[in-house]
Amino acid sequence: MIFDLKADDEEGRICAVERYEVLETGREEPFENIVALVQQILKVPICAVSLIDRHRQWFKACRGLDICETPRAISFCTHTIRQAYPLIVNDAASHPIFSQNPLVTGDPKIRSYAGVPLRTPDGYNVGTLCAIDTEPRDFPDSEVAILKNLATIVVDELELRQIASRDGLTEALTRRAWTARAHAEIERSKRYGRRLGLAIMDIDQFKAINDTYGHLAGDRVIRHLAEVVQYIMRRSDLLGRFGGEEFVLMMPEAGRQEALAVAERVRTTFADAAVNLGGGRTVTCTTSLGVSEMSDADTLDTLLDRADRALYDAKEAGRNRTVVDEPRPPKRLEPALGKAAMTVSE
Ligand code: GH3
Ligand code: MG
Ligand code: MG
Repeated sequence: MIFDLKADDEEGRICAVERYEVLETGREEPFENIVALVQQILKVPICAVSLIDRHRQWFKACRGLDICETPRAISFCTHTIRQAYPLIVNDAASHPIFSQNPLVTGDPKIRSYAGVPLRTPDGYNVGTLCAIDTEPRDFPDSEVAILKNLATIVVDELELRQIASRDGLTEALTRRAWTARAHAEIERSKRYGRRLGLAIMDIDQFKAINDTYGHLAGDRVIRHLAEVVQYIMRRSDLLGRFGGEEFVLMMPEAGRQEALAVAERVRTTFADAAVNLGGGRTVTCTTSLGVSEMSDADTLDTLLDRADRALYDAKEAGRNRTVVDEPRPPKRLEPALGKAAMTVSE
């Protein structure tokens, strides 16, 4: 069901933009194809899929411009998203709102514009699909109709992209989505000389939970671990579900000690809380974690590999503990809760 435009709820609109998790991501074929089509069919030099963030417009895909964002205040698209219908400007130089706009008086010298709002299924205009010319021109109804159809496809793509990136059981990122974002995060951290921590965690003796209580109960335990991590982690951290009951948490700006502190909070919180299995049954279980910190020489694979080996050491050492990968012999933390593994109460 498509809701009416929620034009006066800017905070809700910003949340809708953020929900797509698309800002600052790289080029992706479906969006590239759409701007290429608009350029060909409407014969315009400039076309963009523009997302309107709080203070800027950011282009997910763009043809004919070298920049990937502009301040929101000077954008044409910030006007488009205030309305439910397309914004058409045939000659910006004589337009009461746009004639003095720096994008008109200076580069890229916009003279005409057709923008269609990208409306989410719940009624927020998150951005536009827009066609821009450096000459005055008309945009016949047939062209606006094409833009509208393609704008619907852009929103469908954003929805699908979002659904495909999240694991249905836990809302953690899928392995594929996590890996794409983790690569970008490593690049960013290296560029700015920032630290980066990683933790891999795996529930202890999880097969026994499945065997004793069934797969659905196992699913509840998996979901509970994800909830614990999501409660503890920062907004900028990336949680991915890598396997059945194995998760990876990337922590930008966290060094070894901070990553260890987060891992330990996850471990103790998870071990302390009984998971409700329904029907009056509860189960408590433990998890083991391996932590690594990125060094200059690391790639994502080597960073993961070192955390994975630390996790293996944690399992070997008796479970219910965090092991930190150290450049020198690994340091082991003794568990706060004594013996590992699950305890059950009914
Ligand atoms: P360890 O302490 O060494 O980790 O022992 P473990 O029993 O947890 O061993 P392992 O990590 O290999 O067990 C993974 C099990 O998780 C095996 C598989 O049957 C189960 N599993 C995988 N995916 C799911 C899922 O989505 N839901 C449930 N309930 N179980 C799953
Ligand atoms: Mg396990
Ligand atoms: Mg496992």
